[in-house]
Amino acid sequence: MPEGDTVWLAAQRMHAALAGRVLVRSDFRVPQLATTDLSGRQVLEVVPRGKHLLTRVEGGLTLHTHFRMDGSWHLYAPGDRWSGGPAWQVRAVLENAEWQAVGYRLPVVELLDTADEGRAVGHLGPDVLAGDWDADEAVRRLRADAGAEIGMALLDQRNLAGLGNLYRTEVLFLRGLTPWTRVADVPDLEALVERGRRLMVANRCHWEQSTTGSLRRGETHWVFERTGQPCRRCGTRIVTAEQGAAPYARLSYWCPRCQLGPAPAPSRQPARRDRTPGRTKYVP
Ligand SMILES: [Zn+2]
Repeated sequence: MPEGDTVWLAAQRMHAALAGRVLVRSDFRVPQLATTDLSGRQVLEVVPRGKHLLTRVEGGLTLHTHFRMDGSWHLYAPGDRWSGGPAWQVRAVLENAEWQAVGYRLPVVELLDTADEGRAVGHLGPDVLAGDWDADEAVRRLRADAGAEIGMALLDQRNLAGLGNLYRTEVLFLRGLTPWTRVADVPDLEALVERGRRLMVANRCHWEQSTTGSLRRGETHWVFERTGQPCRRCGTRIVTAEQGAAPYARLSYWCPRCQLGPAPAPSRQPARRDRTPGRTKYVP
């Protein structure tokens, strides 16, 4: 599941490959854009907004894409073999003289007037990785629903944009709070939000996502996807349980000793990867 840092890095790569160059071909394999042709237009910039990607092209148009669970953009030189998945998973192709950008498994591919981008991203809270990041506003939005569980509030992109299950899980471990702690009971919301931002900033320039500082395999996370393994701080077994009501539930991981606050009985299910769909009432 891509988080904001993955989208941020994808945007940097896409921007470097496409911005300032004229498209020689576009190919949209989604019904509503089947007849759309952007060839002949220059790409102006590629901008991340939370987990959304905005590709702005000449003529006041913006291609809006969202990765959701496992979408991605791949860049190829002409003649390279496309390796991002089977051809039927391709949703969009943008090509200039030097690069082919191929979007796989993108559940959202739509063309907007650039002036209307707000329709796609206007609901988002402050963007954790944006230059205009506004911590005070993020905290204000979180506080507005003081009864919410902090683990779910951090996923709600209307509060702050960019955090997904990995970072919200890890930052709650680092702050010693269970995901079920009410927002009103979080001792220092500012510090929590800032810690989450720092985790993402530290990872935005590479694809690996480490919250521990180690990039070695098996050492990159504190509790995320570590069910049954010993806590790196206290040795207690990490436990997991779903948070939120089906079908919106997400897997939470926590250390019952290091993290204080309310929590349900841990799941008895064997460990599994987090594959819960990202479609939540907490707006993606
Ligand atoms: Zn522990």
